[in-house]
Amino acid sequence: MIPRLKPLIGLKEIAAAIPKGYDAGIGDVDRFEVAFADVMGQKHAVAFPYGRTGLLFLIEALGLKGREIICPAYTCVVVPHAIVYSKNIPVFVDCEPTGFNMDLEQAESRITSRTGAIIATSLFGYPVDLDKLQKIRSRHPHLHIIQDCAHSFAAEWNGRQVQREGVAAIFGLNISKLITSIFGGMVTTDDDKIYQRLKISIHGKLKPSNWIKELKRTLYLLAIYPTFNRQVYDWVNRIERLKLLNTFVKYYDVNKIDMPDDYLQHMSNVEARTGIINLNRYRKIVENRRSAANYYFSTIQNMNDFILPPRVNGATYSHFVVQVKNRNEWLKKALIKGIQLGWLIEYNIPEMSVYRNNDPSVFPYSYKYARTTINLPVWGGARQAKKVVERLFR
Ligand SMILES: *Cc1c(COP(=O)(O)O)cnc(C)c1O
Repeated sequence: MIPRLKPLIGLKEIAAAIPKGYDAGIGDVDRFEVAFADVMGQKHAVAFPYGRTGLLFLIEALGLKGREIICPAYTCVVVPHAIVYSKNIPVFVDCEPTGFNMDLEQAESRITSRTGAIIATSLFGYPVDLDKLQKIRSRHPHLHIIQDCAHSFAAEWNGRQVQREGVAAIFGLNISKLITSIFGGMVTTDDDKIYQRLKISIHGKLKPSNWIKELKRTLYLLAIYPTFNRQVYDWVNRIERLKLLNTFVKYYDVNKIDMPDDYLQHMSNVEARTGIINLNRYRKIVENRRSAANYYFSTIQNMNDFILPPRVNGATYSHFVVQVKNRNEWLKKALIKGIQLGWLIEYNIPEMSVYRNNDPSVFPYSYKYARTTINLPVWGGARQAKKVVERLFR
């Protein structure tokens, strides 16, 4: 069985998770921040328990309250949740006609005197159009541009890395992301003032990690490792496997705007140590995804019922997202052939009951992608992509 997603974690991460003594690991979070900022080519990185907590604190650090914040209709639902938690109002914008990212022309048309920020997301590893973004910035210099890089470690638009082109960037680091620190998130910025403010609010508002959290996260990591091990993976029954994997990506309730219970408890040291090790693998991780995507592009054709995603220079393909007419049929068909397909964002946020004040017909692309997208595995590089193609299309 080829699972739909798999973190690239090895024995090094497991070894890093083992505490070296009672007070060992002090400063691990600081070390992770320094390493992360270095890899991203930014002056500062600030760690958070989740990416959404980072976004929430960042919005607060920008001094935004009671303002409108423009964000994609097709993105992870934690993004508008964080906007609401920060006491601002999400304004949703549909995808561009040629891809999954937010339509920046439409976004610009939604700017009003109440708009405080735009969250530009490089979805599925597709770099946001930095030229268009720059034009918006020059016409609306008071607006803050926040880069959501949860899927786009070092994605590039014409050679420029997306995370560096805004006031700050946010990253998610849970087990389903490119780089993982078990859970966790990061905010990166070159702005000293924002960095100071983030540090001050962390000090004031985040509870420190404690031994319970350290233990919980350690156990979680130890449980994850064999789960993704191939032999064990093949061994567990299929239904269980699906359920288990869903717990990694099912994080929302359509009837509630909420946050995890521990969203205000700081990143644990075990997460930071895991993240530091995993960060070293990021080149390999991105390389695997790119080579898998290239293999798919060169061997799979658009068919009636199978539409390939756009091919874009500088994309990191955190997910290889095709559109199909009958998603369940493909899921079943693939499972029989030993491949687990899945989807990442199967909702159009404005349609969710908690955000219902928006008219779904205004978001035709987001509406469509929510119903038709399915992901082919990319974590195992071209070799694995070859297996997938051989099994699926033979
Ligand atoms: C994962 C993700 C985040 C952050 O998620 P957390 O689970 O809070 O770390 C933000 N934006 C997008 C698009 C994501 O996929």
